Amino acid sequence: MNYAINEEGFYGEFGGAYIPEMLHSNIERLRLNYLDIINKPNFQKAFKSLLKDYVGRPTPLYLAKSLSEKYGCTIFLKREDLNHTGAHKINNTIGQILLAKELGKTRIIAETGAGQHGVATATACALMGLECIVYMGAIDIERQAPNVSRMKMLGAKVVPALSGSQTLKDATNEAIRDWINNPEDTFYIIGSVVGPHPYPDMVARFQAIISEEMLWQLEEATGQNYPDKIVACVGGGSNAAGAFYHYLNDERVELVAVEAAGHGIHSGESAATSVLGTKGIIHGSRTLLMQTKDGQIIEPYSISAGLDYPGIGPLHAHLIDTGRATAIAITDEEALDAAFMLAQIEGIIPALETAHAFAALDKMKIEKSDCIVVNLSGRGDKDLGTYIKRMK
Ligand SMILES: *Cc1c(COP(=O)(O)O)cnc(C)c1O
Repeated sequence: MNYAINEEGFYGEFGGAYIPEMLHSNIERLRLNYLDIINKPNFQKAFKSLLKDYVGRPTPLYLAKSLSEKYGCTIFLKREDLNHTGAHKINNTIGQILLAKELGKTRIIAETGAGQHGVATATACALMGLECIVYMGAIDIERQAPNVSRMKMLGAKVVPALSGSQTLKDATNEAIRDWINNPEDTFYIIGSVVGPHPYPDMVARFQAIISEEMLWQLEEATGQNYPDKIVACVGGGSNAAGAFYHYLNDERVELVAVEAAGHGIHSGESAATSVLGTKGIIHGSRTLLMQTKDGQIIEPYSISAGLDYPGIGPLHAHLIDTGRATAIAITDEEALDAAFMLAQIEGIIPALETAHAFAALDKMKIEKSDCIVVNLSGRGDKDLGTYIKRMK
């Protein structure tokens, strides 16, 4: 089995580009050019140099001693929380903004859930001197206030999405609408491995730096360049895609994708797409999504804004559908417990999204000999309000 994307932009039966006619020429230009641009030595040089000196890569692969002791195995944390702006999202926005510049675009739009992608995009735009408009659900604007202020301070315009559940999927709809109205000068920086081809593949390639580093960091730390298991939380799936990327075809490595079960998988307030999802089309790609029998999207729910999405990227739909990846769903409560556990035994406050990945350790079958990498996708500063409520 090969898990790479095919010529038509599909992972198995998932992916493709189901887009309105108005976006066709834009997406087609991107599709025809993205690999040539990304693979140019000059592009790679600029990308790698910014990742190193601006983002702060390579991020450490940290042997978490207390956590390893607790679970009776060896656990490494891939410290994406130490990136500039506090999460993995910046790897992708740096890549896409360089691409946008190559294509001669002057105006950048983005959608954001937790605000991390919005901040990462606003940061990249400030760095490159490009206009930046970020669409964000009105509810998310409320629950992620510090990130909204950051985006504004960085010079971005934050536009509230007032439809639907006023969260990530609605912000995405607004961003797509903007792009349809401004196809010439505007580049849409998508924040996860979702959307029409070539976005899922493009974003996965930019995030692949995570597992590219893991290869040599594991070799250095253990004498073996692969772990037994990689655990990552999945909203759209970009941090997981980056952490899995160089191990996709290495069946020795078990891939664990952790979703948000909200108040419980079957509570009606959940975002556990791999359990509740069925095949359909969302935001331009065929994937697994939460929908009613007649194709209406079911409003997702999670305590973490970054996992509050009714679909998953087509790569993950394929990995889960074929059994290559195992999906685990974690409730709000379990994630909160895990965040406090990690803070107190390792001195690391994770993002709420990332806390779901740590909670999954309780649900996995772990052998003493296991070497596990948990992708620590982001830091918890933005979630302090939620954590404070928990301490009262
Ligand atoms: C956005 C975000 C996520 C979820 O997005 P993916 O594309 O699934 O990675 C996870 N963790 C953090 C810290 C985030 O900011």
